Amino acid sequence: MPYQMWINGEYTSGTSGNVIEVHNPATEEIIDTVPAANATDVDAAVSAAQAAFPAWKKLPAAQKAELMHEVAQKLTERTEEFARMLTLEGGKPLVENRDEMGWSAACFRYYAELGRNGRGRVIPSIEESQLAMVLKEPYGVVGAIVPWNYPILLMAWKVAPALAAGNTVVLKPSEMTPLSTLLFAELFAHLPPGVVNIISGYGADCGEPLVLDPRVRVIAFTGSLATGQRIAQVAAPMMKKLHLELGGKDAFIVAEDANLEVAVPGVAWAALLNAGQVCTSTERVYVHETIAPEFIERITEYARGLRLGPGIEPDTDMGPIIGERYRAKIEAQVEEAKVQGAQILTGGKRPPQLTRGYFYEPTVLTNLAHSMNIMREETFGPTIPIMTYRTFDEAIALANDSKYGLGANLYTHDPLKAKRFFEEVEAGTLWINDPLTDNDAGPFGGFKMSGGARELGEEGLDEFRETKHVHWDFEGGAKPWWYPYGK
Ligand code: NAD
Repeated sequence: MPYQMWINGEYTSGTSGNVIEVHNPATEEIIDTVPAANATDVDAAVSAAQAAFPAWKKLPAAQKAELMHEVAQKLTERTEEFARMLTLEGGKPLVENRDEMGWSAACFRYYAELGRNGRGRVIPSIEESQLAMVLKEPYGVVGAIVPWNYPILLMAWKVAPALAAGNTVVLKPSEMTPLSTLLFAELFAHLPPGVVNIISGYGADCGEPLVLDPRVRVIAFTGSLATGQRIAQVAAPMMKKLHLELGGKDAFIVAEDANLEVAVPGVAWAALLNAGQVCTSTERVYVHETIAPEFIERITEYARGLRLGPGIEPDTDMGPIIGERYRAKIEAQVEEAKVQGAQILTGGKRPPQLTRGYFYEPTVLTNLAHSMNIMREETFGPTIPIMTYRTFDEAIALANDSKYGLGANLYTHDPLKAKRFFEEVEAGTLWINDPLTDNDAGPFGGFKMSGGARELGEEGLDEFRETKHVHWDFEGGAKPWWYPYGK
């Protein structure tokens, strides 16, 4: 059966008659096609979600939890199938996609439990005869718009808390990786119709009508800064609740006491995981000048030794870039740095042995200036630009010299440096000696232009809940502070 959308518990090809070709970035071949939704399809999905909302809101939390555990269970059973599909359409090595499925199932389990643990709190009342409560309520219909780099995980980070909070969802995957998400309809099939709806389409024709629909009270979006800004602009007149997870330019500080046996592979992994296409990829490395020569030599050697290839092959360390446009952006940044005096120690080109697919070699750069785009703009590619520093003050200032503030990393066993790092660096996640490890209970999101929203943890549930203050006076008598004042 061709891939279809999932609206109100039924498969549909939509009304546009148009399709989107989905490519394998490792081979440039077409894998399949999916419907290209238009505004009419968005309208149908939102109507279904709106109709399903009252009953889903009222469903006892324990029953919601059971249904969400079932999603997690089904995903666990089908990990291999989903991981393969995601490797075909997204390019990541299979091992990374198996992890993504594991983390996504864990996220559904986490919110299944968190959702049944609280509806708010009782607060001290103004008078003894009163009960005062803070109640948490769902918004209604949530529009979840997801990028291509972690399609299932970033879907889970939105859909799981949105459902646990009692909302219904219209989900739109990236047009580049819609297959695994459309397949996911099978894992939602036991939910009441309309609670989750999945539509595939382009940003302008499908994403934007979702943002514009006044019945959609929340837009939960992960993607680029430019799209986030566009969504904020379009949604502003409706005072829509926006949850924006945007780009990053994460710094990694390597202090003079770092153990290079760990720091070299650790920094390389943080920069090159998923070919650098992680929002929290390390995109700037600051190494203390005393260890820099050895660090640079070793990480260059290490990067050179990694194996590029299609992610479906078991020995592949690094797969392709998602598409030509994205590879061109990486190439432009590296070229520009080169013209401005940067030294390329390894990489800086397409691998000659891989003639098909959007591959780009792991690239180590030095001799950089902080004004270069490769140190300022998101690269989203397998680059390791390295600068040296003398004092820790300088390292922190460099780390903070960015419009983004998603995550930051440090290698040190010096507690004073660690404390300064987590207190002074302006970023939503601070990793010390263990790069890029997420925790379902630990909120994830960024400062500054990285968007300000938080996914995961209790904060991630709260993003999908309205807050009510209930003030209830049991006696309800007249109050002495009412009119007339002159009495
Ligand atoms: P993108 O902004 O191009 O697209 C993201 C999604 O938005 C896609 O589904 C797309 O179809 C949709 N979209 C595009 N235009 C739209 C519009 N006008 N209205 C509504 N929806 C629209 O981003 P991408 O290239 O898919 O993803 C890469 C970006 O995502 C990077 O910048 C990366 O840093 C960011 N990202 C951030 C996080 C985070 O948690 N902060 C995580 C992963 C990726």
